[in-house]
Amino acid sequence: MAKNPDDKSIIRIGARQLVETVYRSGGLSILSYHQLSGLTGTRTHQAFAAGLREEFLHFEVEHEYSLKHIWQEEDGAAARAAQLAGNAITGMEVNGRADVLLKPSADKRAVSFRHFDNEPDNPFIIEVKTVAGPLDQVPENGEEMHWLQAKLYSYMYWSEQSKQGADPPSVVPYALAYVSAETLDAAFKLREDSWSDLEDWFRETCLVYLTQARNLADWLEKRNESIRELRFPYSKLRDGQAELIHQVYESISRLTPLLAQAPTGTGKTMSVLFPAIKQLLKPAFEHVFYLTAKTSTRRAAEQALQDMRRESGLLLRSITLQAKESMCLAPELYCDTALCPYAVHYYDHLPDALRDLWPVQELNASLIMAAGESRQVCPFELSLDLALACDVIIGDYNHAFDPRIQLERFFGVGTSQHILLVDEAHNLVDRSREMYSATLDGADFFLLQSLFPSEHSRSARLTAPLCEYFLALQTAIEGGKDGWDELEKAPEGQDMRVLTQDKFRAINVPLRELAALLLPWMQHMREEIEHFQDARHRRKLVELIGTAKFFLRIVDEFWSPSYIACARVSPKGLAIRLICLDVSEMLSKTYINKHACVFFSATLSPVSYFSVNFCGRARDNRPDTLLLPSPFPPENLQVIVGDFISTIYKKRGESAADLAKAIALAILLKRGQQFVFFPSFAYLEQIMPLLEKMLSGQNIRWQIQSRHMNLLSREHFLKAFDHPDRGETVIGVAVLGGIFGEGIDLVGDKLSGVTIVGVGLPQLSPERNIMREYYDEVYQGGFLFAYLYPGLNKVLQAAGRLIRSEEDQGFLLLLDQRYGTPAYRELLPDEWEITEAKSLKELKALLAEGQNPGKN
Ligand code: SF4
Repeated sequence: MAKNPDDKSIIRIGARQLVETVYRSGGLSILSYHQLSGLTGTRTHQAFAAGLREEFLHFEVEHEYSLKHIWQEEDGAAARAAQLAGNAITGMEVNGRADVLLKPSADKRAVSFRHFDNEPDNPFIIEVKTVAGPLDQVPENGEEMHWLQAKLYSYMYWSEQSKQGADPPSVVPYALAYVSAETLDAAFKLREDSWSDLEDWFRETCLVYLTQARNLADWLEKRNESIRELRFPYSKLRDGQAELIHQVYESISRLTPLLAQAPTGTGKTMSVLFPAIKQLLKPAFEHVFYLTAKTSTRRAAEQALQDMRRESGLLLRSITLQAKESMCLAPELYCDTALCPYAVHYYDHLPDALRDLWPVQELNASLIMAAGESRQVCPFELSLDLALACDVIIGDYNHAFDPRIQLERFFGVGTSQHILLVDEAHNLVDRSREMYSATLDGADFFLLQSLFPSEHSRSARLTAPLCEYFLALQTAIEGGKDGWDELEKAPEGQDMRVLTQDKFRAINVPLRELAALLLPWMQHMREEIEHFQDARHRRKLVELIGTAKFFLRIVDEFWSPSYIACARVSPKGLAIRLICLDVSEMLSKTYINKHACVFFSATLSPVSYFSVNFCGRARDNRPDTLLLPSPFPPENLQVIVGDFISTIYKKRGESAADLAKAIALAILLKRGQQFVFFPSFAYLEQIMPLLEKMLSGQNIRWQIQSRHMNLLSREHFLKAFDHPDRGETVIGVAVLGGIFGEGIDLVGDKLSGVTIVGVGLPQLSPERNIMREYYDEVYQGGFLFAYLYPGLNKVLQAAGRLIRSEEDQGFLLLLDQRYGTPAYRELLPDEWEITEAKSLKELKALLAEGQNPGKN
């Protein structure tokens, strides 16, 4: 709930949120409706606009008409009572945008309307909803919630007019329009209310909401009081912490994005949360989002909040959001909201569930699932409804940035401002690229086609052309042809460029021909889901429809020169992937000038690379930056570069023996508990037999990462490092950028050495090479952006596993010729005191002379 910054007794609310909060009832909707600006794309929009012109010949049309209305409680006694109770809310500011406003033009003549018996004489509002399938699914009289939105906008419009001197008509018409994305038909429905009824209805709606808002305001007063009193919860500030806290506070104040590199030991979680919570005192900010790449890192944020509650008396409601699959109480129903018992009466039972959990300040999945079970409401939806009343929301990057998953109620049109804290932000580069990319597997369509009992059914007839498309492309690729030149056309004025490499093809044009086959298929198959009895097939279809939907959205809405379409033939068949090479423009659009955003990580070097990836190229988007040095004594870390070994692909056979000897030297001379990181599983598997042979009989316990490890085997792997004092040498062998390459915290003697083989460059692939070309063209830094910077980031993350506290000591051995060159050396942290070994002999001497904390 946000207050008007100019008048604290007024709360702000969106029109849609107002009617939904006061009037929602029944179950979660089966049909999904979208606004015209969303998924439906330009085609539906154009068809609807043409229909409007045809239907309302003599009306002027205004789209997206902005409305604002301030309502003050007239009952002075109630307002005074609220003020005396310290609860000073006495009115509301309602904001929204009506989809369409129609005004009779000056030359309006009597015309016959196709859809309306009576022709409206006055301006009127149309609320527009699009439906994926045909219009016969829409309830005959429309959805009540949609009518309420149209009614509210109509009241707001005429209220605005009356302030400007116009008299509202005694009877106010308003309309709904449902538009089918499948058939492009539109159905219009008209209602009317007397102006006095509208006035009464609006007043009653506001009064109901005001009661709820005052309860929330009571809480916010207490919360704000505790935030004002909030002191930093720890007795001592660490090195760099005061600077980080100050910078986070400043950047949030100015709504300027901040990129903060805060190495391990700076206490970065508390350093960003503490000032962000202080900023909640500003009415402009409604929620703090703490966003992470992995579930495991959310614990640090929960812990920091607990510390502030316990040590500093903070009163604050927080929630940790989980994915729908992990909260679902009826997974076998795949969210069929007509069948799921937790969906059918969701809104009827929601107030009870909200009341149950209202006193809880720290909401987590198990509490919410228990409440969902007892009140028969979907826990996932409940968590989203609860989040609206929470101050801090801990979740995944997806919740704010992924166009498929983004929480519309927080980040949709007309929503409030938030503070986004993006933890381990170096992960966002690849994650955001995934968020805007989509892959279709031909095998999925072939499987589906085999399930239809008749090839003449509509489902089979719509799936067949898709199978043919995949088959034709696969056959062409296998025959060494371009393939796509036969299937797709370049938009007018553009050349189609096809990149051909073995079983891989890429083109620079959106796949409109494929999209044209996919749209009717998707619209039809949505209606067919319930006819799939086999749960696995049903699930597969639901997933395939979801992917198809996003695929179409990329073609229609997101496609730009930063996209390519790729096809790859593998033993599983042909997969087509739309890849977003550069997400920066789309990513920055989600928050620049809308929300305060702090990107932080232990490794954000070089900062220019992350700045471009997060904020784009526009000068105005330039972020604040803060690069803190490690707070730990540099002498605690011995860094050795072994640049006498080449690990490039062609030399790996030649250098294998020396490489194994170098690793073995580090293991034998340093002992203790160490990690060895390889750039790939293939390289790891090449060197391990040599190592094991060289070190047999040396009392070494190997913990080797395998390609498919679940949570349990990961924990088992790490458990071996729990007791460093057993006189055993424990060696973890893992791949860079994998599950042990970051996010693990082995303090003290649990880890005393890290050896890194290679420079971490991503594997060479046609996709990476295209990315390199793109970055060469746009930023004149193709190799740096596509290979070097992402690679070095993995190296720095792996190296960061070593020194985790002031007392930690250890050695870092970097084995690769390239670390001896300026291009690589200048990207290593300044505080590293590097020594170079030019031979195995020199390496042996350096390893022997350094600290040897793990010797046993
Ligand atoms: S309980 Fe599961 S199936 Fe039911 S609505 Fe929620 S997420 Fe969907």
